[in-house]
Amino acid sequence: MNIYVLMKRTFDTEEKITISGGQINEDGAEFIINPYDEYAIEEAIQVRDAQGGEVTVVSVGTEETEKQLRTALAMGADKAVLINTEDDLDYGDQFTTAKILSEFLKDKEADLIIAGNVAIDGGSGQVGPRVAELLNIPYVTTITKLEIDGSNVTVVRDVEGDSEVIETTLPLLVTAQQGLNEPRYPSLPGIMKAKKKPLDELELDDLDLDEDDVEAKTKTIEIYLPPQKEAGKVLEGELADQVKELVNLLHTEAKVI
Ligand SMILES: Cc1cc2nc3c(=O)[nH]c(=O)nc-3n(C[C@H](O)[C@H](O)[C@H](O)COP(=O)(O)OP(=O)(O)OC[C@H]3O[C@@H](n4cnc5c(N)ncnc54)[C@H](O)[C@@H]3O)c2cc1C
Repeated sequence: MNIYVLMKRTFDTEEKITISGGQINEDGAEFIINPYDEYAIEEAIQVRDAQGGEVTVVSVGTEETEKQLRTALAMGADKAVLINTEDDLDYGDQFTTAKILSEFLKDKEADLIIAGNVAIDGGSGQVGPRVAELLNIPYVTTITKLEIDGSNVTVVRDVEGDSEVIETTLPLLVTAQQGLNEPRYPSLPGIMKAKKKPLDELELDDLDLDEDDVEAKTKTIEIYLPPQKEAGKVLEGELADQVKELVNLLHTEAKVI
């Protein structure tokens, strides 16, 4: 089984996020594997261990992304590929990323491609489905269970807390939802082995792409933090007066009635 995982390096949203000049300030931020991509890596390893084959983790990023790719190798992936856009592109969007990934994948004869459901920073949930569309293969999003029997696949997907069972076939792209599995921590032997596993680096040129081919279709105009939460109001006095005051406040301050 030829398995590919799409992995994004993201900043840790558990950390305090600051914005300067309309951009998220990356100085001092902690960077991690996008948490949904950890489920994707774990699932890929489990499928490989059950069915045989190879797991390749691929990321569009910069040299810094090597660290997260090495972590994926330490978890148990076999190979990693970094598509480094640092020298070629200043700006990109979901189209850019999906186009680059699909050009990389188009001749790889992937049986299974696993992406995360969503990146916790960009949060559009577009890259996986876009890659599948560009490769012209089926895709199922937000999966919580994957069973493969020959080329037949049964998938359970999470639909806002309910479950939907879908049957489909390989080659297939799925996106991983929380609950799919319990991602392992890299073990010490895993970390040592990862140092010797292949991590290839490609640039746009290697994929016969130039900047125009992957030019972003959208432009981010502004990024801002949500307004600070104001302290709540406690109404006092007779119940009937409190209700009157509440209705008044909903009308004049909250302007919701
Ligand atoms: C060259 C370049 C420059 C960029 N410049 C900017 C910028 O200036 N400002 C800005 O705000 N954003 C920038 N971006 C980020 C970009 O807009 C999106 O963050 C990115 O395309 C993914 O969208 P998303 O974060 O919504 O991911 P989602 O679609 O939510 O991600 C879902 C899944 O897709 C896969 N995936 C997502 N991104 C990658 C990746 N890079 N590599 C491999 N798999 C991936 C993962 O499996 C992930 O879990 C740039 C991207 C590129 C490629």
